[in-house]
Amino acid sequence: MKNLLTPLINLVAPPQCLLCSRDTAGEYICERCTHEELTPFDAQRRCLVCFRPLFQRGICELCKREEHPFFQQRMLWDYTPAVKELISEMKFNWNASLCYEIGRMYAPMILEYFLCENWDYIVPIPLHRKRISERGYNQCEHLCAGLTSALYSRKHTRAERTLLKRTRRTEQQALLKCRKQREKNMQGAFSCCVDITAKRILLIDDIYTTGATAREAAHALQLSGATHIDLFTLARSDGW
Ligand SMILES: [Zn+2]
Ligand SMILES: [Zn+2]
Repeated sequence: MKNLLTPLINLVAPPQCLLCSRDTAGEYICERCTHEELTPFDAQRRCLVCFRPLFQRGICELCKREEHPFFQQRMLWDYTPAVKELISEMKFNWNASLCYEIGRMYAPMILEYFLCENWDYIVPIPLHRKRISERGYNQCEHLCAGLTSALYSRKHTRAERTLLKRTRRTEQQALLKCRKQREKNMQGAFSCCVDITAKRILLIDDIYTTGATAREAAHALQLSGATHIDLFTLARSDGW
């Protein structure tokens, strides 16, 4: 039966690992790469607020001193070459099903990271419609759908891809190196026209660099009444 199904599986998922090109049984990433290249962070040695590495579980000096825009911020990986390759495949290679699969696969880990996860809405960072027409899809929407597929028992949590809107097209953040330029580029880039008074939200993005995009999105959600916003990104690319 397995042999009969293999060609079918290969049609929807590649027969080779995206990272090392070894043959896989229809998986996107082989077992070895999953364990060696994509091991998620150990939450026990991270800041409870921003997830910065610490010697033990606690709150880092920065989060003690300054107010953090998110109640909790979590990510799975550093921006290693393997993670970079994976995210670029998710973003630019018409591979929406890979985005879904990553969300579904890592959902238990992601949920374990957050101390309190009774969100009302899980919201992907939206792309401008022109960028969607270039790329074919918004990778964060599919990542979010995969993640929420693992939340079927929590009826009150909903994925809400239309809650947040992109009000204008911005320059690609990756092309802007300076923090100030990135912040200016994102100013007023999002709006939320729904009353979400006292709602709890998990915001989803693929990479965190300076945080300008996520902060601006959170600002729009707060203006519409959200009182609790958590942030999940796959990776953090600015070091710590
Ligand atoms: Zn591999
Ligand atoms: Zn911290």
